[in-house]
Amino acid sequence: MKEWITKHGITVYRLESPRCNCFAIVTDQEKWLVDTSTMLHRHKIQKQLEECEIFELTGIILTHSHINHVEAVAWFAQEYDCPVYVHDSELHFVQTGDCLIPNAASPAMHWIEKLVAYIPFLNKYPACREAKALTFTEPVIWNEYIKLIETPGHSEGSISILIDEELAIVGDMMKRSGAFHVKLMWANQPGLVEVSWKKLLQEKCEWFLPSHGREISKKMVEKEVYSEEK
Ligand SMILES: [Zn+2]
Ligand SMILES: [Zn+2]
Repeated sequence: MKEWITKHGITVYRLESPRCNCFAIVTDQEKWLVDTSTMLHRHKIQKQLEECEIFELTGIILTHSHINHVEAVAWFAQEYDCPVYVHDSELHFVQTGDCLIPNAASPAMHWIEKLVAYIPFLNKYPACREAKALTFTEPVIWNEYIKLIETPGHSEGSISILIDEELAIVGDMMKRSGAFHVKLMWANQPGLVEVSWKKLLQEKCEWFLPSHGREISKKMVEKEVYSEEK
């Protein structure tokens, strides 16, 4: 577990599980959980919430609806009796428990997609019928310090959560590759990845917190995006 405290005293905890990082955002008034990991690891996430003295949740925000991020969403929603929010375009997956199959960026990995599609326990999870849609005609201002923006590319409904103009929880829209690079192995809309990275770079946030692996500095992303431009 790792924590950050922003200039206005918002605490962000990275709750770790083998299948994905989840995050808790704690303000004076609210306690949000971002993503839920899997059924197998739900107690691991819950234990870390408790270590952060989080026993109630204001709500759950999903960065996107891939199964390793949302498999336990119905369980958490019931356990904490709280609302769940997901991008409009992926709401039906969460409400039905159907899996959005990830697309490999490299053709050499397409066999994994096919495998996932045919194995029921890899593409079906407990439905969260009460999940609510986030619609983005413009950024969603959650409160004074939390803003949600659309960052499609990894999936159509991928969103990023900007906290106090310092940190951005980016889901699977970024991942470190080695010490110095940022890469995406999986993208349902590869053409939009860089567009979303540029959108994130326009924000003031200095650190990007991905769902897999360690945090990424703004400089690292700038280098990745702009050093490739001819
Ligand atoms: Zn994903
Ligand atoms: Zn993921």
